[in-house]
Amino acid sequence: MRQYDNLALDNCIKCSICVTNCPVTRVTDKFAGPKQNGPDLERFRLEEPAAVHPSIGYCSNCKNCDVACPSGVSIATMNSKAKGEFVARHGAPLRDQLLARVGLMGRVCHLAPALVNWGGRVKLFRWLGEKLFGVSKDMTLPQYAGKTFYQLMRQQKFAPGRRKVVYFPGCYVTYNTPEVGLAVVEVLAKQGVQVLVEEFNCCGLPLIANGLLADARQAARGNIQQLQKYADQGYRIITSCPSCNLTLRREYHELFDLDTDSLNDHIMDVFEYLNELARQGELVEPLNPLDLRVGYHQPCHLKAAGCGVPSKEIMDRIPGLQVLGLDAGCCGLSGSYGFKAEKYPISMEIGSNVFRAVEQMGVKQVITECGMCQLQIHHGTGVAVYHPIQLLALAYGTAK
Ligand code: SF4
Ligand code: SF4
Repeated sequence: MRQYDNLALDNCIKCSICVTNCPVTRVTDKFAGPKQNGPDLERFRLEEPAAVHPSIGYCSNCKNCDVACPSGVSIATMNSKAKGEFVARHGAPLRDQLLARVGLMGRVCHLAPALVNWGGRVKLFRWLGEKLFGVSKDMTLPQYAGKTFYQLMRQQKFAPGRRKVVYFPGCYVTYNTPEVGLAVVEVLAKQGVQVLVEEFNCCGLPLIANGLLADARQAARGNIQQLQKYADQGYRIITSCPSCNLTLRREYHELFDLDTDSLNDHIMDVFEYLNELARQGELVEPLNPLDLRVGYHQPCHLKAAGCGVPSKEIMDRIPGLQVLGLDAGCCGLSGSYGFKAEKYPISMEIGSNVFRAVEQMGVKQVITECGMCQLQIHHGTGVAVYHPIQLLALAYGTAK
């Protein structure tokens, strides 16, 4: 019998609130749902780990079930473990193996980013990608930046700061949107905070979401080892991606039972850190007015992190900026989920509430902290989508 997991399994009161809050269950009957895959089958898995419903691959790992559960059951973690068990027994298709290795894909695509970006736009290649690998021909592929965040940082010069933090940029900032990482560094430099930069493993979330738990655990161990030395010196560890933040803070412990107690207090979203500076009276006010009306989308993993919307209080300080909450639920992309041909229609159906909210509000720009939400909202609406830190950098006059 498997050791009893501390996932609050016995707290389940079978209310089915998780089912009504699952965006996947809302739009398709291909998925048996969070309750059946989670606590219902977890009881059997304690005796027999193979008790996994074959529909488990349809869980997008959005964690809305965890947020909604009134009893604090870690449903999404049960689902991730079940998915890992399923993949360990049946294997993962080549497509999932590739989509899960975001860091490796980033390094390879960066050998010729312009060529990769061009290839990703050619209809024939996209059609072949769907026929041969099962990658949706309809989904907009992420564009690779000409230089990675680390390459750009080597070209920057920042004065030593009164305080130091270490930044965990995540793969999407590293390879696709390094301008977001630069905005983080510039905004913090404005506060007299020096950002230490070191290359890390992918946080491991794409591996977890694709059931490749052994590789994710290895990535987690490497990151903990690297980050611990900063935590031991008292440095804050700053993230700008809510999914990286949630994975470092919660998944490493909940899913892999790794000891992150002494690390967790040091890990902060960049806006949580800016709020901390504001409370200490050390935040430099963003004074450049931005005459903009933008929609705000809260990523599911920021919701799951339970820290509210830390960017809100900071964005409220920017003169002239009007931020309207879209409040329309999950965008549907969920990392690699919406890139899979069989899941693309589900992903778009889930995201349709967000797309409609953007249209109804009539906003031409949207801000959201998650790179994948940025991609999906742009894909579904055509509007420009930014990380809030980019607008803040504009208000400080530091954006490049
Ligand atoms: S919401 Fe929580 S308590 Fe209710 S059925 Fe789902 S897991 Fe059980
Ligand atoms: S993680 Fe998301 S998709 Fe998976 S069961 Fe929970 S709510 Fe549904």
